[in-house]
Amino acid sequence: MMATTHALAGVALAVAVSLFVPEAGGLPVLAAAVGGFFPDFDLTGDHRKTLHFPVYYSVAALLAGVVTAAVTTPTTLAVTLFLAAAALHSVMDAAGGGLEPRPWLGQGERAVYNHASGRWIAPRRWVRYDGAPEDLVLSGALALPALLVLDGTAQLGIASALGISVVYTALRKPLVALADRVVPQIPEDVFDRLPTRVASFIAAYR
Ligand SMILES: [Zn+2]
Repeated sequence: MMATTHALAGVALAVAVSLFVPEAGGLPVLAAAVGGFFPDFDLTGDHRKTLHFPVYYSVAALLAGVVTAAVTTPTTLAVTLFLAAAALHSVMDAAGGGLEPRPWLGQGERAVYNHASGRWIAPRRWVRYDGAPEDLVLSGALALPALLVLDGTAQLGIASALGISVVYTALRKPLVALADRVVPQIPEDVFDRLPTRVASFIAAYR
């Protein structure tokens, strides 16, 4: 799923929680948005492994939730929602497509790495790939509560995330088609001089 879908899922969770703790303010919602996005910072590394922890984030979020139930402050709520949103992201990735460059072909067997078992979780493909039409629908549905409840800058942020989702969905397949055309044209010596991470990221399109 798109990083924006994950961020909006975190925000939807935070908006639901904030109905019970309205005095906590905007910090927990912001933390949930960042937590929902956070695992995908491993995009240029070992994607869906380095910063994706479906089990460990979940356990950490539960522990933080126990602490927050005892000591409910904006900060404890923010930490809990950051971890919960990151956990939700990591678990949601298992419901999406595989890690491969063209996940709509349904060829990959790796959705997200489970550090607890030391194995890759297979993709369920309920959302076929990041940027699929159903991913955009999910993104919109998750944005709805926040759009209704929040206002000002926060509301603008949600609308912007949704806008990015629309653009990403429109460009997802054309960009891969473009990469398929452009990357093979990169001369070997230029390719060899690219940073290893960049080279391995685009090598799939050669
Ligand atoms: Zn992810």
